[in-house]
Amino acid sequence: MPPRKISDSAVRRLSLYARALADYQDAGRSTVSSVDLAERGGMTPAQVRKDLSLFGSFGKRGLGYATGDLKRHIEEILGLDRSWRVALVGAGRLGAALFQYDGFRRQGFEIVAVFDVDPEKIGRVWGEVTIEDVDELEQVVRREKAMMGIVTTPAASAQEAAEALVEGGVEGILNFAPRKLSVPERVTLRNVNLTIELESLTFALTHHDVEIT
Ligand code: NAD
Repeated sequence: MPPRKISDSAVRRLSLYARALADYQDAGRSTVSSVDLAERGGMTPAQVRKDLSLFGSFGKRGLGYATGDLKRHIEEILGLDRSWRVALVGAGRLGAALFQYDGFRRQGFEIVAVFDVDPEKIGRVWGEVTIEDVDELEQVVRREKAMMGIVTTPAASAQEAAEALVEGGVEGILNFAPRKLSVPERVTLRNVNLTIELESLTFALTHHDVEIT
């Protein structure tokens, strides 16, 4: 059977719904409507209902969705009902900032291994993790059973880092380096580029007459 097709933007909206539902739950709301979720995420209620209907039928007409149930369902759909072991390559400024961000841990992303080439950094201890030599990456990633890798090396080393992660058995890579990476088809690659986000902001600030959808 061919794989089901779901747009990346629909998946990103699910993340927004999960976050909104967590806030509603914290605020003690036992039910929410598609209008509530739409208001929080900046989409239409019809879009919310359409997105959720892709994964089954949730909620009752006129009653809305049970906040906790829907949050759990979406977390399951996003794979957030389990923890993810992550390897970080490049223990520089960005790598350190990502490692220190507690929100990832709370969402189930655990950085279990960190690698660098710099002899000054190798052997340093970050929390419960010792920075290891990138030469050991493949073996350590395998031992630690990391399923994901984050690349925060300079651009020139990023492809090499990605290849070592793939050899170590990761199934997904989040790349921050400004370099187009090539990975086998079985591995999912996502690139993060804050410059593109800033440029989208400068576009919006430059063209007040354009509605960006
Ligand atoms: P940095 O110089 O502080 O850190 C890079 C680290 O990678 C250093 O510790 C270095 O020793 C290490 N390194 C070098 N070669 C390596 C290799 N082969 N294997 C493992 N480690 C290696 O740089 P930074 O400011 O943290 O930026 C890191 C990367 O992130 C750069 O590519 C930068 O362009 C990129 N970046 C992207 C965004 C974004 O929006 N995507 C934002 C900021 C920085």
